[in-house]
Amino acid sequence: MKLGWIHGGTLAASLDGDTWRDVTAILAELPAPSIDDGHVDWLISHLPRVREAVARAIDGAPKLTVNDATAWLSPVRRPGKIVGIPVNYQDHVDEVEQARQTFTNRYTGSIRQQGFFLKASSSLVGPSEGIAIRFPERETHHELELAVVIGRRADRVRPEDAAGYIAGYCIGLDMVVRGPEDRSMRKSLDSYSVLGPWLTTADQIADPGSLFMWLDVNGSRRQSCYPRDMIMGIAEQIAWISESCTLWPGDVIMTGTSSGVSRVVPGDRIECSIEKLGSMRIGVRSL
Ligand code: MN
Repeated sequence: MKLGWIHGGTLAASLDGDTWRDVTAILAELPAPSIDDGHVDWLISHLPRVREAVARAIDGAPKLTVNDATAWLSPVRRPGKIVGIPVNYQDHVDEVEQARQTFTNRYTGSIRQQGFFLKASSSLVGPSEGIAIRFPERETHHELELAVVIGRRADRVRPEDAAGYIAGYCIGLDMVVRGPEDRSMRKSLDSYSVLGPWLTTADQIADPGSLFMWLDVNGSRRQSCYPRDMIMGIAEQIAWISESCTLWPGDVIMTGTSSGVSRVVPGDRIECSIEKLGSMRIGVRSL
């Protein structure tokens, strides 16, 4: 199942990825958000119930016309946290080493030596909202990433059990200002985390490693890779992160980027795609 939010509060669902329906009415069946909910995204925290209700309602639900211009918001509206995995593809590690001559970079060593980082939840947007460049004199780079959305509370999970904690996948853009400051600052600017265009539930994706992914800027290819080339795989990431902090439904892991990161400036158009997860276009503008 594919689930996404459209501007104005419409919940869109598709079983085949082609026909979309407005299933907003099923939200009335969910328990109201409560102060006792913990650090969760409301929809994702009720995902099994949501899926049941959508399956029941979808044939009778109004059809939606979905296209590039559809005002997709992030499929996760309120993640408790967005966790980033650094230096997770060897070709990106190599280009970071090269770039050391140009950019001050305080981070060295393996993934575990550098540690995971956090991006502010307030940096999150969907593709329709676009990316706003806040410091035009500095270099903002795109990082195309497979985004993993957590579906169940995960505390000290073993790698062999990790797959059971994944709600689904979507396209992620880990936008960043290059420079010497802490990553959490440079990657937390408003609109510097993009998720979209919708969530594809984990049962649809037998092998996320095999999903070809690519990113173009103004029609020219900048990044392409397969997630199977990650240095630290998804299961190990979930185990490693949850050793330190509980992962909650709706938490997002940005699983790392391959080589080809490059500058974007106001006026640029980013187009990106991950096989089976969809494609999206994002505009880059001035603040
Ligand atoms: Mn990244």
